Amino acid sequence: MDFLKLLRRFIPPYKKEVALNVLFNLLSTLFSLFSFAAIIPVLQILFGITTEVGVTVEWNWGMSIGDIVSAWKNNLLVYIAGSVQSLGAGWMLFYIGLFLVVMTFFKTWASYMASFYMIPIRTGVLRDLRSSLYRKVISLPIGFFSEERKGDIIARMTGDVGEVEASIMSSLDMMFKNPIMILIYLVTMFLMSWQLTLFVLLLLPFSGWLIGRIGKSLKKRSTKGQEQTADLLTQIEETLGGLRVVKAFNAQHKLIERFDNLNDETRHTFNRLNRRYAMAHPVSEFLGTFVIAILLWYGGSLILSDSSPIAAPEFIYYLVIFYSIINPAKDFSKAAYSIRKGMASLERIDKILQTESTIVEPENPLPLPVFSKGIVYDNVSFHYQKGRQVLQNIQLEIPKGKTVALVGQSGSGKTTMLDLLPRFYDVCEGAITIDGVDIRNLSTYDLRSLMGNVNQEAVLFNDTFFNNISFGVENATQADVERAARIANAHEFIMDTPDGYQTTVGDRGSKLSGGQRQRISIARAILKNPPILILDEATSALDTESEKMVQDALEKLMQNRTTLVVAHRLSTIKRADLICVMHEGRIVERGKHEELLALGGFYTKYWEMQS
Ligand code: ADP
Repeated sequence: MDFLKLLRRFIPPYKKEVALNVLFNLLSTLFSLFSFAAIIPVLQILFGITTEVGVTVEWNWGMSIGDIVSAWKNNLLVYIAGSVQSLGAGWMLFYIGLFLVVMTFFKTWASYMASFYMIPIRTGVLRDLRSSLYRKVISLPIGFFSEERKGDIIARMTGDVGEVEASIMSSLDMMFKNPIMILIYLVTMFLMSWQLTLFVLLLLPFSGWLIGRIGKSLKKRSTKGQEQTADLLTQIEETLGGLRVVKAFNAQHKLIERFDNLNDETRHTFNRLNRRYAMAHPVSEFLGTFVIAILLWYGGSLILSDSSPIAAPEFIYYLVIFYSIINPAKDFSKAAYSIRKGMASLERIDKILQTESTIVEPENPLPLPVFSKGIVYDNVSFHYQKGRQVLQNIQLEIPKGKTVALVGQSGSGKTTMLDLLPRFYDVCEGAITIDGVDIRNLSTYDLRSLMGNVNQEAVLFNDTFFNNISFGVENATQADVERAARIANAHEFIMDTPDGYQTTVGDRGSKLSGGQRQRISIARAILKNPPILILDEATSALDTESEKMVQDALEKLMQNRTTLVVAHRLSTIKRADLICVMHEGRIVERGKHEELLALGGFYTKYWEMQS
């Protein structure tokens, strides 16, 4: 039972709302039964059935349910006939109209209240799902995202979440609202005429079977539709990210073609899906009318044959009630479809939620060392995919306060070396230790609090300068942020903007130059003031002025810190305490600048190429 699974998982926090929703649905159904009942006396008056005033039947405890119902019917007739005689038929019709209006008012009020309590469940479930997805996504290791595409994750957080929401609402209706209505209506029908009602029930299993068949392939198609939507989002995301390149290479038409193809396929999938989905209503409506036609024929002949258990006006009331069952029954079939669609989406969401993080937190993390000795890469090997070794038997010591520079051609494993230190990835063999403690025995939070990162691509958020700089630090004051910005040579240009530190930097810092973005991210690291620095120097050519500013800021940042840097700038290389030349995942040469130059190997070539 898919819908039970859904409800058990999502509804517990909203028990109160569910209870109130059920209560008001119940009320609404009862009021609508009453309002329909007004039909009987109206018909009786119009057809002149009520001219004779009968005798009231006394009610007593010994009566069976059937007796009570027939006594009630008889007394109502007596009462109506009496009233028509004393008030006149016109006034009686007026009062019945009034009764209808009042009952309908209560009925609509109750059904509004039912929705009123349903809405916070909807929005709540949506919020809960989004929130748990966001928490999960933010906690997953970096490696996860080189395999999952961003557009796909966005699709799961929006489209799929919406499908699940819809199907939970359907499940709630299916569990509480529709059964209540159907049950109350059915009981009423039984009390009115059990023969007719039994006859109706015989027709139900057939309808159920037909509806089930239509819903069958819905889940599979729905999965496909959501996957295609995700692909679309990925393409949009890629396009927005690479717009510069797209235009520079005049590749618009290529991308448009690619997008249009997928867009058409997606439309095709959703055409088929929605067409099938749209069959729910017509099919159940048709079935309902089919049953009504049979009822009219069967019930009508019963009435005409004089052996009828009910009179004509009651039969009409009976038909009205039966017609009211069709709507909740229709919703039932639609719910079955929508739950199928929702389950497909939930599976996609769960794939993210159930992902086990490959970076395992230690159960009993060791306390953070004061950091007094240094960092050691102890015989470290690493690969992303089995069989493709990226780092091999790296042995490297970075004593406290020293700067170690990594150089080497692209793809030689320098960035990977940096990523292992904050445990963005875990080593495959060997260990990395800080003051002799394996970093896998520290909590990632503690470990990362030791480190500051400045990357090639300065990552800024669409927020103010102030918030971008104070990003990793709690309770930073304006003075702290300003001091950091001054050291990073960023204060001046920040003050030149209209709102100073409260100016927003635009989407990913798009309003800033490359050098300015760099200096903001350096200010961020200065403010955090970590003992260990991880630098991936920008290769992108900055203009000389900007380059000088960035260089100067970096040097101030590196003072008195232990630094592991992927170096592209000659100045950094010359200043480093140790230079490691990497080649195909190994450190092939190491030493100070002059020593390496004297060696006449990889480094000398590299150096000659640069200068
Ligand atoms: P460098 O920084 O020296 O240019 P990297 O450390 O980025 O080198 O890459 C080293 C090797 O690892 C390259 O061959 C690269 O293709 C591969 N690589 C990098 N990141 C990934 C990843 N997320 N998945 C698979 N392979 C990767």
